[in-house]
Amino acid sequence: MTVPAHGGHLVNRELSEADRKRREAELAHLPKLRPSIDDLYDVQQIAIGGYSPLEGFMDRATFEGVLTKTRLPNGLPWSMPILLTPPGEENAKVIAGLQPGDDAAILDDQDRLIAVLHLSEKFAPDRTAWAQSTYATTEPAHPNVADVLASGDVALAGSIDLVRRLELPTGSDEMTPTETRALFVEKGWRRVAAYQCRNPPHTAHEYLQRLTLERQDVDALLIHPVVGRLKKGDYRPDIILAAYRALVQNYNVPSRVHLAAFSITMRYAGPRAALFLAIVRKNYGCSSYIVGRDQAGVGKYYDPYACHRIFEEFPVGIDALCYDEAWLCRKCGVMATMKTCPHPASDRVDTSQTRIRKALSDGQPLPAEILRPEVAEILRRPNVVQN
Ligand SMILES: [Zn+2]
Repeated sequence: MTVPAHGGHLVNRELSEADRKRREAELAHLPKLRPSIDDLYDVQQIAIGGYSPLEGFMDRATFEGVLTKTRLPNGLPWSMPILLTPPGEENAKVIAGLQPGDDAAILDDQDRLIAVLHLSEKFAPDRTAWAQSTYATTEPAHPNVADVLASGDVALAGSIDLVRRLELPTGSDEMTPTETRALFVEKGWRRVAAYQCRNPPHTAHEYLQRLTLERQDVDALLIHPVVGRLKKGDYRPDIILAAYRALVQNYNVPSRVHLAAFSITMRYAGPRAALFLAIVRKNYGCSSYIVGRDQAGVGKYYDPYACHRIFEEFPVGIDALCYDEAWLCRKCGVMATMKTCPHPASDRVDTSQTRIRKALSDGQPLPAEILRPEVAEILRRPNVVQN
């Protein structure tokens, strides 16, 4: 039994080699758009089925329905606006000349042809509503709100056809939903839990993975770190992947865990992001999805457990495995949560990224109960994006 894609059909909008060759001359003469890398990641996910049932970028009615109802026009839950808003004057000139029914070429920053957009509508999205409904704030201090404010004035709706996949630094670590689904069949995994992450693993992360692997209704774990666009100070994708590889190779049962890279721009939208990231993992063939405390949160914009409750309001066909905050308790001597540990917060060992980063930058040792030594060794390399 395989997990159906969201909406029942796994989208495939990749042109075949023959189609691409046949249309090459025609494609070369299309008006050219150069969207942001965030939008290019979305182009690729739409085409490979990660965003099923979306076949392209949202029109106004779909966008507004997602903001106000958290649903697509057909009633299916969907929490994240997916808009194509190429920024800048050069793009604006091209967009001004486009009419619904036109095709446009989507290029990457090296001017390689990535996809064709079949334009169905142009509209000016309400940025305030976009930010407020998605991120619960309009403050530019929120990183994704800043992106919304910097996006182009006009959104281009319509289906896309992928001509060529993006050249990503994560290369062969990337997998398409078709590939993960085939892998699960080959391994005999009927029920796979997805683990969403953004940072290298410390022992509190590992604890949730282990609890999940103990479940009777989980055959295996897909560790699926988001390694898309990076900002200064973020861990580099190769570091995140190497750290997880060290954990998997040294501390996991190989027949029960798989690691794959997932390149999209992280949207820190708290509950809406958790629902979106779960739907996407359903499309990758997973039957359950791990949700920790304050998943996809940033700053203090979200109730740390709103990301659990949203799954009750919007059943999306993937089981949310919701976990309370976990910590290492000195008195208990093991990882614990509010459900298992009666001791005060002063007995908890600080396993925060802040502490880990500080210890690494100060050259201080980190105890193995916080960070596996194999992971710590990788994190001691130059590990963050510098600009
Ligand atoms: Zn305790």
